[in-house]
Amino acid sequence: MKIGVLALQGAVEEHIHAIEGIGAEGIAIKNAEQLNEIDGLILPGGESTAMRKLIDYHEMMPALKDFKKPILGTCAGLILLADCVEGSEAHIGGMNIWVRRNSFGRQIDSFSTELTVQGLDTPYEAVFIRAPHIDRVGEGVEVLATYGDKIVLVQQGNKIGCAFHPELTDDLRIMELLKEQIQQSKLAQPSNVL
Ligand code: GLN
Repeated sequence: MKIGVLALQGAVEEHIHAIEGIGAEGIAIKNAEQLNEIDGLILPGGESTAMRKLIDYHEMMPALKDFKKPILGTCAGLILLADCVEGSEAHIGGMNIWVRRNSFGRQIDSFSTELTVQGLDTPYEAVFIRAPHIDRVGEGVEVLATYGDKIVLVQQGNKIGCAFHPELTDDLRIMELLKEQIQQSKLAQPSNVL
């Protein structure tokens, strides 16, 4: 299984390491052609405005919008996937969600907290860094975790959006969610149907 990490800016190495931790091959994606080689994609944390500029500079936007395989967007990557971004235009889009950037205030720039995540039988320790949150979700989106009244983990079809950083702890269960989506999409491919 090959999982790409958009490698224009942000937490690329950490994700490659976490991908290896779930027994897959991690590939740093720097151009549109490389998207054809992978089974799934991670849009990492970093700075969404800078990442957007680099996506345009490298002319990757059409290919990213067309990418139909499973995607995990974390933090800045979640912002890139949102159909609506408070105070800004949307970027890649594809998830029917409204996000708000830097929504946890300056005094708690970074923190970690235990979350109850749908489908996981024990709490998940989540690391938030200048994180966005999801204000509202539209049709087809499942809420998997909230922190207080803020939505922080969602799934829509084979796309997973996460306000925190699943690559920064040893608990790889959010990465495993992406792996499951990839396994399911491989099974659904016509070439595997007898
Ligand atoms: N605050 C950043 C943004 O708006 C996201 C932070 C992160 O990815 N850790 O893009």
